[in-house]
Amino acid sequence: MRRALIVPVLWFVVFGYAEAGAEVSVKNLSYYPHKEYTRVVIDVNNYVGFTSHRLSNPERIYFDLQDAILTVKRRVISVNNNLVDSIRIAQFDRKTVRVVLDLKKEGKFYAFTLPNPYRLVIDVYSKEQVVERGREGYNVLTSAVKRVVIDPGHGGEDPGAVGPSGLMEKDVVLDISMKLGKILEEDYGLEVLYTRTTDVFIPLNERTEFANSKGSDLFISIHANASPSVHTKGIETYILNWTDDKEAMRVAARENAISINRMRRVHDVLQLILLDLAKNNKRDESIRLAHYIQNSLVDGLKGDYTWVQDLGVKQALFYVLIGAEMPSILIEVSFISNPLEERMLATDGYRSKIAGLIAKGVESYIKKSTLTVWR
Ligand SMILES: [Zn+2]
Repeated sequence: MRRALIVPVLWFVVFGYAEAGAEVSVKNLSYYPHKEYTRVVIDVNNYVGFTSHRLSNPERIYFDLQDAILTVKRRVISVNNNLVDSIRIAQFDRKTVRVVLDLKKEGKFYAFTLPNPYRLVIDVYSKEQVVERGREGYNVLTSAVKRVVIDPGHGGEDPGAVGPSGLMEKDVVLDISMKLGKILEEDYGLEVLYTRTTDVFIPLNERTEFANSKGSDLFISIHANASPSVHTKGIETYILNWTDDKEAMRVAARENAISINRMRRVHDVLQLILLDLAKNNKRDESIRLAHYIQNSLVDGLKGDYTWVQDLGVKQALFYVLIGAEMPSILIEVSFISNPLEERMLATDGYRSKIAGLIAKGVESYIKKSTLTVWR
């Protein structure tokens, strides 16, 4: 990403599509303190037009949401960190909901809307925290995605799949993950965290818990595939969801490190978890992210690696994705069980190419995610 993604004018164009006079209900108000900024999220049920204003003595910024009706219960939230004192929300007049952020010092903010589910996101920075990052001038502040957790599969006592010549999935995916992280940091100015950076065992549930605790915006789990048939090859990207597809179940059972029979039994339990998650999960966003990455990998590899097969975006019950509070995907970068793909996975060139193409997929996802205004 080489330049600021969004110009304010886009914001008006897009809101022009909203149904004239349609009322938007404002459902919830929450905030998430990050190291460099405080994120305020206002859940709504449709695209909402808004205006923003700034007041001094004391420092405040406020947003008027147009044609909006307040249905939220909580009207004052005490934040009390070094930047934000409190957040207040109220029905200002018949058609306007006002959100006020009481600041402790002068701040800059960055506001944008996201669909699926619709919400207005406001990131507030203190003046001194507003910095340009990234080698190519990509401004991290112009994106809804700032922090990415990369999850190299397996590790330690769990080698993952092992290729015919002995190449281990845990080693391949760690190297690709580190390469990917370096690109996302250096070229795109994103903050990258890893569930592991060495050859250690990390339980599956701790991986998304880590991403949640860090307030990550994306979770990307990287794996290499395996099949009973040495001929099977290709690339596939998964999101977490119920599936009846036998191949997808087989892949999930292997990655979950349980037998396919036990996988079938736990499906009932998992379905309950998923029903609960479905209320506020990020499935649509995960699907979008998966498609951008899958397409980037397949299109980008086709030229130099003509045998590459597109196995598509699929869904299955991966333990490692359960509970993620952000868009989350699992990429099977190639089949380590296929002699040709194992040979490629052993090379630095192929690993670097894959890392670069995943980064490009993330870039496409980010570019098409946000409608923003930056003051
Ligand atoms: Zn794996």
